[in-house]
Amino acid sequence: MPKFKRIAIKIGSNVLTHKDGTLDTERMARLVDQIAQLRGQGIEVILISSGAVASGRSALKLEKEPDPVSARQIFSSIGQARLINEYYELFLKHGIYCGQVLTTKESLSTRGHYLNQKNCIAQLLQHGVIPIINENDTISVTELMFTDNDELSGLVATMMDAEALIILSNIDGIYTGNPADPASQIIREVDYNQDLAKYIQTTKSSFGRGGMLTKTNIARKVAAEGITVIIANGKKDGILTALMNEDSDTLCTVFMPSKREVSSVKKWIAHSESFAKGEITINETASKVLMSEKASSILFVGIIAVSGDFEKGDIITIKDFEGNAIGVGKAQYDSRKMTQFMGHKGLRPAVLYDYLWIN
Ligand code: GLU
Repeated sequence: MPKFKRIAIKIGSNVLTHKDGTLDTERMARLVDQIAQLRGQGIEVILISSGAVASGRSALKLEKEPDPVSARQIFSSIGQARLINEYYELFLKHGIYCGQVLTTKESLSTRGHYLNQKNCIAQLLQHGVIPIINENDTISVTELMFTDNDELSGLVATMMDAEALIILSNIDGIYTGNPADPASQIIREVDYNQDLAKYIQTTKSSFGRGGMLTKTNIARKVAAEGITVIIANGKKDGILTALMNEDSDTLCTVFMPSKREVSSVKKWIAHSESFAKGEITINETASKVLMSEKASSILFVGIIAVSGDFEKGDIITIKDFEGNAIGVGKAQYDSRKMTQFMGHKGLRPAVLYDYLWIN
């Protein structure tokens, strides 16, 4: 493992809670001890912590639960207070301050909001504070939600130019088959462009929203942007310090990063898929050009369909001629003009290369 200067660590609900859903404060304490140790070695740490809903649910027993959305709002509200209190006290024992950063998809969906959020986390780090980030589950409901905190952690890792993202769950990594099957083996190293779908079990973790499939998709995307991603078992004692050891042989899955340089705007675009307000479909020739290594913008002549109601500057999904979503980009025109100009030659690009991310 190379030496990293800045890392993002995502801790899943299953790591932080006992089987009955109550907060595992002992586990939290051990993880905080290790983070303090890493800090002592000069590594900057950004935490993305789940566990709010789970710990709220175990703290407050409701006679009759309201609808699922309201229940989630109540539980996350109490649980986040409980969670951050615990972190605060634990970090303070090491003489370290931690700060709570709650965010929503909306708060990252425009470049201005994104930069504001980035500045907040950068300032905390600069002043020696450990940022502890979670989604603001009290206000982000259904379609406005992140898929899960794995998605959020990918966004944070790229936004903050972390060199590594460690996703801690209650499993050692990605297996070649069902982890319960003794014949299955852990995949130790994966290249960022290697498709692992055939190995992934689609079962979800019991307390969190995420599953291995989303973890893998996020991991590949983040690794494609030049960040090492590690999926490891947060329930194992000493996991973080072991992983950061230069000659570590800890059981985990490492996604090897791409070497290409990705601009910070492109990184933002890459993680904006879920903010898309519309879509454009491009023809076969344009699809081929975009999928090649060449740096190309999307021209109107290659567009065959436009859908959705979007403004200039909004994020849109790019679909190939077979209807597969192949990327995201920032629209240079609103949906009315895009529809009017599609198929035409000699106009300025509909999506510029610098604001385009092809998966
Ligand atoms: N934000 C949620 C929580 O703190 C977790 C979402 C997830 O499971 O990924 O409970």
